[in-house]
Amino acid sequence: MIERIFIFIFGSIIGSFLNVCIHRMPKSESVVWPSSHCPKCNKRIPAYDNIPFLSYIILGGRCRFCKKRISLRYPLVELLTAIMLLALFNRSGLTYDFFFYMVLLCALIVATFIDIRHRIIPDEISIGGMILGLILSSVRGIKLSPFFFSIKPAFNSFLGLIVGGGVIYLSGFLFDLVYFKLLKRPAIQGETESMGGGDVKLLAMIGAFLGWQRALLTFFLAPFFGVVIGIINLLTKKDHTIPYGPFLSLAALLSLFWADKILHLIFLQ
Ligand SMILES: [Zn+2]
Repeated sequence: MIERIFIFIFGSIIGSFLNVCIHRMPKSESVVWPSSHCPKCNKRIPAYDNIPFLSYIILGGRCRFCKKRISLRYPLVELLTAIMLLALFNRSGLTYDFFFYMVLLCALIVATFIDIRHRIIPDEISIGGMILGLILSSVRGIKLSPFFFSIKPAFNSFLGLIVGGGVIYLSGFLFDLVYFKLLKRPAIQGETESMGGGDVKLLAMIGAFLGWQRALLTFFLAPFFGVVIGIINLLTKKDHTIPYGPFLSLAALLSLFWADKILHLIFLQ
């Protein structure tokens, strides 16, 4: 029990850092310097007001100085990260897998919240994640005793990157070819590209961590979430472009935790 409490606290602290990334990365600001400031009045936030969840509750969701509302996103991301890492710990314990998938989960959380707000996925996350996925996968190939290096995990990761990025790029390319060129349908809000480059890079990054099979599973699961939100979007007559990153992230999450169960359900074997 005590280690689970520790992981939960650790997760919320990581989540607190992810909040900084979500806030600063779209503005190309450093995520390590300067320390946290209130986005409204710009006053430095003292350490005792920066405790995950607790500070938000104690302060009633308002800045100590200017009393303006603090976005609910802050405690939400902290809670989400804490729960995710706890789920990961319950599955893998404190192993290399825990650390490996923690990096992926953090990247997905940051990508999702930035994409929702700004409709972009920063290259630091997608391309940086691809490189990290390749490196961390390669490390799996090192066996210290007897010392030898297997190329297989690195190759799997590379294949995941190519297949993940390739399949989503190809689907977008084919859709645009049929929809805009063959059927000659008008551009949607000035766009004749259905799939953004950010989504291609995001799935390539996911593939670098999960390998090609689970990258493909992610690709096929994501549209189901997209359809649900798309229908809600149409019914509520909100604007019609929806960010795709959150659906890819959600699908990657399912592929990470339940790939075997989902494949079993589909193929009944
Ligand atoms: Zn303030």
